[in-house]
Amino acid sequence: MGTENASLPSGMAAGLRIGLGEDVHALVEGRKLIVGGVEIPFEKGLLGHSDADVLAHAVADAILGAARIGDIGKLFPDTSDEWAGADSMNLLSIAASRVRDAGFQIVDVDSVLTAQRPKISPYRDQMRHNLAAAMHVDVSCVGVKATTSEHLGFEGREEGMSARAIALLQRVS
Ligand code: MG
Repeated sequence: MGTENASLPSGMAAGLRIGLGEDVHALVEGRKLIVGGVEIPFEKGLLGHSDADVLAHAVADAILGAARIGDIGKLFPDTSDEWAGADSMNLLSIAASRVRDAGFQIVDVDSVLTAQRPKISPYRDQMRHNLAAAMHVDVSCVGVKATTSEHLGFEGREEGMSARAIALLQRVS
């Protein structure tokens, strides 16, 4: 390896960045269940300062992380009344414009939701469309997968849901 050489690592030279996002919210009675911008009929919903859309939050953190401009906690503090009950599709849309303002294009995003119940597959395509629309990218650039945790852990006990997302950005300016 030519460590004396000033040439950049290939990913950096190509202006490519990756980012990882992860989020968890508790499942409680008396809340709507909103995941990927879809309201899903269920006896419990996710608890949070905003609408607690765990998938949207993971995706937002992935793109913000790839652009190295912080995270949603910094952008939308849960101490601020401004974001109380917020539609997380709006938060994701704002995050995506900050990413573009920082000089990046969102190339690709993949994600996975971990939830024991309800079954997510009927809503997957709508979630992909919602996430893509919020970020102003083509739906083919957004993946959503779902898995149970085989009844293990807090997701398996239906005490909460978690989500992970990964994003690829390209520097455009
Ligand atoms: Mg969150």
